[in-house]
Amino acid sequence: SLTTGIVGLPNVGKSTLFNAITQAGAESANYPFCTIDPNVGIVEVPDERLEKLTELVNPKKTVPTAFEFTDIAGIVKGASKGEGLGNQFLSHIRQVDAISHVVRCFQDDNITHVSGGVDPIADIETINLELILADLETVNKRLDRVAKMARQKDKEALAEQAVLEKIKEGLEEEVPARALEYSDDQQRIVKGLHLLTSKPVLYVANVGEDEIADPSGNEHVQAVREFAEKENAQVIVVCAKIESEIAELEGEEKQEFLDDLGIAESGLDQLIKASYNLLGLATYFTAGEQEVRAWTFKEGMTAPQAAGIIHSDFERGFIRAETVAYDDLVEAGKMSVAKENGKVRLEGKEYLVKDGDVIHFRFNV
Ligand code: GDP
Repeated sequence: SLTTGIVGLPNVGKSTLFNAITQAGAESANYPFCTIDPNVGIVEVPDERLEKLTELVNPKKTVPTAFEFTDIAGIVKGASKGEGLGNQFLSHIRQVDAISHVVRCFQDDNITHVSGGVDPIADIETINLELILADLETVNKRLDRVAKMARQKDKEALAEQAVLEKIKEGLEEEVPARALEYSDDQQRIVKGLHLLTSKPVLYVANVGEDEIADPSGNEHVQAVREFAEKENAQVIVVCAKIESEIAELEGEEKQEFLDDLGIAESGLDQLIKASYNLLGLATYFTAGEQEVRAWTFKEGMTAPQAAGIIHSDFERGFIRAETVAYDDLVEAGKMSVAKENGKVRLEGKEYLVKDGDVIHFRFNV
């Protein structure tokens, strides 16, 4: 399954945030497919639609969908030179599908800052530079390899060479591979290169306890926002220290605490949702009397592929998907009424599942 890696310099609040993630922890019994690893935190994806469906259907059990964050510790500076732990840091990043880059925006004189003072842009650039240097090495090696084929006018090699030259030029100006524009064909080549700087990124600005209600006065957050905007990247503001307190609460208690703090949604919940979207993930639902449940699928999946997420038998024996859009079901108020209104569709093998579909799969065993 897809995972987001939590990355950042030492002392920015990564462990504190990761602790909040494991504290919020999903009941892993519900998610036998998830990785069991101390560096992996499984979180439930908050979704108001699931609560609404539970009201409508009144099932015995409701199960949210979940996904994984990976804590990427390790030495950052000099990582690209391939020294021990630094090398490990890069190989961990290689294994994740997206990056949550935590930067320190809180002031606390008791907590040392690795580079002397709070400067999130310098922090971002320190990590990005290591990733850029590692990618430059990958690209240069690859260029050497395709050069010979390209000289023989091999079409594919020429196409790859052109993309590699373009990426190299960007990297040399400290532009990550994800920030360049590619044609569809080039996109396919880029994907095959597995570059670190082509992974999607969002920035997590960790602010102080007294700033979480209104971070607009924090100049560091402002700087991170401006930096991220240039990359079309999202910024989530959290207070890691408070997030771990919020993560211990549920339901009304959690809501009251958030109201007291003056925030509408916890930073962690925002981070979960944003990471989910960044990975290109979406949710469909199954809604029976036994269980109402949210399932994660990758956008672009067909109905049989989405069925296969529940069970491989569902994919193998797929006949059709009885599907109703969440909004249509809520408007009808009942599945039977949605059927009468002609809102329940019978979809076949080619159907591309949409976010919010409520599906009943028909299959042969
Ligand atoms: P890591 O090295 O990036 O994993 O950072 P840690 O999570 O270990 O945090 C480093 C120190 O900063 C710890 O003493 C935390 O308690 C503190 N810290 C983390 N987040 C916050 C925060 O939002 N506000 C304040 N004041 N301190 C924080």
